[in-house]
Amino acid sequence: MNKVHFVGAGPGDKELITLKGYKLLSDADVVIYAGSLVNPELLEYCKEGCEIHNSAHMDLQEIIEVMEKGIKENKSVVRLQTGDFSIYGSIREQVEDLHKLEIGYDCTPGVSSFLGAASSLGVEYTVPEISQSVIITRMEGRTPVPSKESIESYAAHQTSMAIFLSVQDIQKVVERLNEGGYPMNTPIAVVYKATWADEKIVKGTLEDIAVKVKENGITKTALILVGQFLGKEYNNSKLYDKDFKHEYRS
Ligand code: SAH
Repeated sequence: MNKVHFVGAGPGDKELITLKGYKLLSDADVVIYAGSLVNPELLEYCKEGCEIHNSAHMDLQEIIEVMEKGIKENKSVVRLQTGDFSIYGSIREQVEDLHKLEIGYDCTPGVSSFLGAASSLGVEYTVPEISQSVIITRMEGRTPVPSKESIESYAAHQTSMAIFLSVQDIQKVVERLNEGGYPMNTPIAVVYKATWADEKIVKGTLEDIAVKVKENGITKTALILVGQFLGKEYNNSKLYDKDFKHEYRS
C-alpha cells in the first residue's frame, strides 16, 4: 500500500524545498497543501492532472478523508506543509488518524521559517560567548501555551529567541520579554514572509520595535527574533582559530 508523504515546503521561496520534496511533489497524484502559508508557486511543480486541495478550507477529518481516498485508489498522496512540519505543523493529529486507518506515512523535512529568516538577515543564532542556545516559542493565542513555558521565563535566559505566531501582539511580547529580563536596548527584528518576494525586515530594539511593526502594517506571517546575536558584539569561534588544534587540523 502507498504511504502518505508529508513534505516540508520551506519558508516561501519555491526553490527552498528539498530535492526529495520536489521529486515527491512532481510525482504526486493528490496534493493537500496548507494554502494559508505555502507559496502557491510550489504547485507549479505538480504534474498535469494532479488533484490539488487547499487545507486552509478543510478540517482535520476532511484532510484525512482525502488522504484515505487517494491511498485506497493507489495514488501518490503528498501533504505539503509550510516550513518544516515539526514546528507548529499539526502533524501529530494527522499521523495518529492515519495510524487508526492503518495507513503508513513518511516525512521529508523542510527549511523552517526561523532558518529562512536568519538567512534573510545573514545572522548566526549561536554567536560564540554571546548565545549558544535558540529558544523557539510562541505566545498563547487561541492555542494555549503551558504556563511553565511563559515568554518571561525564557526571556530570563537572555539567549536567542525565535517567536512564532505572535506578531499581532508585538507590544505585549515586548513587555513580557522586558519583564523576563531583556533590557529595553536589546536588539530585535521582525521578519515578515521570510524568503518570499514581498519579504519585509524591520529592525529595532525592544524600545521601538512595536511602533515600527505597526508602521509597516505587519500583523501576521512574521517571526520575532530577539537577542544579542543581532547586536554588534561577537567573538570568533575556536573552530577556525589558527591556534586551535583538532582532529582535522594539527
Ligand atoms: N511549520 C512552520 C511554522 C508554522 S506556524 C515553519 O516551520 O516555519 C505559522 C507561523 O510561522 C506564522 O504565524 C509565522 O510566525 C511563522 N512563519 C511561517 N512562514 C513564515 C515566513 N516565511 N516568514 C516569517 N514567518 C513565517
